[in-house]
Amino acid sequence: MSARILDGKALALVVRADIRTAIEAFRTEHGRVPGLDVVLVGDDPGSVVYTRNKEAASKEVGMRGRLHTLPASTSEVDLKALVRDLNADPDVDGILVQLPLPKHIAAVPVLDLIDVAKDVDGFHPVNAGLLALGRDGAIVACTPAGCMRLIALAEVKLDGARAVVVGRSNTVGKPVAQLLLAANATVTVAHSRTHDLPAVCREADVLVAAVGRAQMVRGDWIKPGAVVIDVGINRVPAPDGKGRLVGDVAFEEAREVAGAISPVPGGVGPMTIAMLLSNTLQAAQRRARAN
Ligand code: NDP
Repeated sequence: MSARILDGKALALVVRADIRTAIEAFRTEHGRVPGLDVVLVGDDPGSVVYTRNKEAASKEVGMRGRLHTLPASTSEVDLKALVRDLNADPDVDGILVQLPLPKHIAAVPVLDLIDVAKDVDGFHPVNAGLLALGRDGAIVACTPAGCMRLIALAEVKLDGARAVVVGRSNTVGKPVAQLLLAANATVTVAHSRTHDLPAVCREADVLVAAVGRAQMVRGDWIKPGAVVIDVGINRVPAPDGKGRLVGDVAFEEAREVAGAISPVPGGVGPMTIAMLLSNTLQAAQRRARAN
């Protein structure tokens, strides 16, 4: 039996349509639209594409999207000065500093400087801490939030389910695990030191792969009927010479075993951008309520 495909592209369109409607209501009530400011330092090809997509997506839903492109030689002092300016600008609701930053800039002090209320990436320690404590008010990191929306689409009962997250990064693995825990799943977080990873994965009713290794999770690692969320984005060689994108899961094998699976591309990726827009709208609504 072939798994149900969790179509992130289609779901993201629905989410974005709802956001567009909410932005119109926000404009009517407050006389302005939410603003998302994306900061790109340098010309990493992946980051150039990601930041352009984020700016375009914010404009497409009716936000004020602005992309600040700084040269790779920008100093940490100058980048921090821009973040401070954006923090102070009342028309800015969301600030996103695209990672990775050039090697001479330490990312942590820059990210920590972003106003917690405008931290739409959800990477600030206060937002990460609120999520870890299970407290209300956290801005949840976009990719983990997108994973949860795809899991919801699969209509799996998380209460009491066994969930395995492969990967323990602060940006994906850990927050996904915390969200699954908050939904009452029994969560295992696996990583590069995990013994017998295939056996650990086979226990999962819900398996989230966030590793960055092309097609590492094979079909026989998957429990029949499991929900599989593939976060990985890996470029592998293809006959056209340009390469093609694949996930961390061997999709063709996995879809024969899983109950539902998110594809790459077209799964978590589009949901990540939709959740960024959602976080920006929520940040604007909260700031408007607080003023
Ligand atoms: P990181 O490199 O920060 O983390 C990777 C994690 O995978 C680490 O915890 C690492 O373990 C673990 N790992 C590495 N090798 C193995 C292995 N052989 N067996 C088990 N675990 C292993 O990556 P990210 O979390 O940032 O991203 C993961 C993937 O998701 C990447 O492909 C990235 O491109 C993609 N991504 C996709 C997004 C989207 O929008 N779709 C957004 C963000 C990321 P350890 O901690 O022990 O080193």
